[in-house]
Order: sequence, then C-alpha cells, then structure tokens
Amino acid sequence: MSVKQQLRENRSEQTPLKIDGNHLVSNNIAENKQNKETEMGECDLIETCPFFNDKIKTVNIDTEQLKEKYCKNNNLNCARYMIVQALGREKVPDDLLPDQKTTAYQIIAES
Ligand code: SF4
Repeated sequence: MSVKQQLRENRSEQTPLKIDGNHLVSNNIAENKQNKETEMGECDLIETCPFFNDKIKTVNIDTEQLKEKYCKNNNLNCARYMIVQALGREKVPDDLLPDQKTTAYQIIAES
C-alpha cells in the first residue's frame, strides 16, 4: 500500500498518524508510549532545518517550545519531518511549523 493510500485510510478513520521511515502507520497511546521509550530523540535534520535554525519568520509563536517538543524529543510527529520523509525536503513549505500536521497530511495526499 502506498503512503498516499495509507494516509487516506487513516484520515477517513480519524486516526492520528505517524511516519516511520517511508511508511505511515496508525498511532495510539500504547504506541506513543513505546515510541517515547525506544525511537524518539533529537531530529536528524536539526543542523540544516530552517525552522530549528530560526530561518523562518514567525509571529507570536513560541518557537523554543516547539523546538523542545518536536526537534529535541519527537520529530516523528513534526509536520516538516513528515513531508521530508514522504516527499523530500524540496516539498516542505518554507513557513510550515512543526505542529501544522493537517497541512502536512494535505500536501502529502495531494502530491
Ligand atoms: S522542525 Fe521538524 S524537521 Fe526541523 S529539526 Fe525540528 S523536528 Fe526536525
């Protein structure tokens, strides 16, 4: 099943998603707990990411809180990271924030 197909199925079930490598998989509390213990950590894109390196213009956004939540602890739930994994870096909108997952899902589904 393609990433797009998985995305559509998960959206129709109103199930939160995560991306593991090139695969979208369903998400639940138990998986989240396990991921915290085994997979999550600092994002491997941190050195070159425009968001993390303050290259994105933001207004009234607590970027340090987003960096702590996503970049330093849970990149698999980052909207930017999802698009990089599914489509490549060049498809990430410059102004996309890590918590804009709905936008990420739309971009991936429409690609
Ligand atoms: S914004 Fe997303 S892709 Fe960029 S460093 Fe943070 S977690 Fe990684």
